[in-house]
Amino acid sequence: MTFRLYPNIQIEKQLGYHRKLHKDLFNAAVNNRFTQYQKFNHKVDYFEQQNCLPAFKEVWTEYKQINSQALQATLKRVDFAFERWFKGLGKHPRFKSIRHYSGWTYPAKSGYSVESNGENGYLSLSKIGRIQMRGKAKYWGKPTTCTIVYRNGKWYASITVDVLDQVLKPEVLPTGAIGIDLGCKSALSITDGENHQQIDAPKFFRNAEQKVKKVSQEKRRKRAPKRNKKVKASRRFKKVQLRVSKILKKVANQRQNWVHQVATEIVSSNSFVATEKLVVKNMTSKAKKGTLRQSSVTKRKKQKAGLNKSILDVGFGMLRSTIKYKVEQIGGVFVEVPTKKVKPSQTCPKCGHQHKKTLDIRVHECGVCGYVQDRDIAAAEVMLYWAKGNLPGLGTSLVDAESSSSTSYTRKQAGSMKQLGTKKRQKSVEVSASNELRDVETHSSGGANYG
Ligand SMILES: [Zn+2]
Repeated sequence: MTFRLYPNIQIEKQLGYHRKLHKDLFNAAVNNRFTQYQKFNHKVDYFEQQNCLPAFKEVWTEYKQINSQALQATLKRVDFAFERWFKGLGKHPRFKSIRHYSGWTYPAKSGYSVESNGENGYLSLSKIGRIQMRGKAKYWGKPTTCTIVYRNGKWYASITVDVLDQVLKPEVLPTGAIGIDLGCKSALSITDGENHQQIDAPKFFRNAEQKVKKVSQEKRRKRAPKRNKKVKASRRFKKVQLRVSKILKKVANQRQNWVHQVATEIVSSNSFVATEKLVVKNMTSKAKKGTLRQSSVTKRKKQKAGLNKSILDVGFGMLRSTIKYKVEQIGGVFVEVPTKKVKPSQTCPKCGHQHKKTLDIRVHECGVCGYVQDRDIAAAEVMLYWAKGNLPGLGTSLVDAESSSSTSYTRKQAGSMKQLGTKKRQKSVEVSASNELRDVETHSSGGANYG
């Protein structure tokens, strides 16, 4: 959560001075890495630079007054920039002018102290002073890190807090047990085996997508910066860019609010939640069309699908992890159902019969027992029954669920081709085994997974 800071003139001078020192350290560290490499072919890493800090402070004594963990955090920024560059994710690290240097971070609980209950208050920085701050945090706890940011002539403090010890365990654990299917037509399809509920993704997801798309189009018509040709971005380009970042920030806030609302409501009456291990589906209808006609999709359509994916899917990822976090906080059980093993969307929750459904089939209609249900609700039912250990056909236990979801599966996924081969073999063995068990004909086998 970010607080606006209101320093007096003296303190503002100090803040500016500290910012300059951190900037100089950043540039010195970048320079050190380049010259060491160019002259001696030596790659400097973070720890080498960190170990140089005491000697550095003997020469540049003004750094003695700065919190050493904050200095380390600045070296970490350099390290991060280089790491990103090495991985091809970021640009070549450059020296930064003071205009482009935002501030510094206190990575631990030293060098600063906060007097606040989450709304307004004071921030004290060692060697700088006590500063009034204004702002309101949604969640509050023990401050863990503090980042000082200078932006557009204003100072801010971005403080992260530990909310862990703030969550109170309820006296009586809610007794509800539910299965949740995330994504596809409804954002959430929830069932407790008798009652079903579907929650749609809020409209702002879609609205934001359209807005971002529109503004991005405008942006493409403005003069973008070209660093290698020394072309600066036009004023209009910067203006539009600011608008894009404002929209994205707003969406991020709305998304967070929605996620917390939904997760809180779920946990208020349930302490047993089963859901899929990984959500790899395309969540929006537009993106879905894209995958169905993959061969004929143009590049732009793919980009569009990618955008949908980013805004909505990030929401689902957050939703899932927030529910998990909250369930575990109250002492409940969160079961990760291994999708490939259980195949929630292809299995009948009543009899366990498996039948492949393509994405456009929205209703589960069992050919064996005649059970008819909404596709996503049926999938949620399968997950709930499986997690409870009473899914017909595929019997299992909680122990099985946890071990398969958290360890062996991930290890296998990260494995080599050879391991992938064994995985496939195991899978087909599994399928045939369960076929025998149920003694009914199934159409499922390895290969395509409609998850
Ligand atoms: Zn059935």
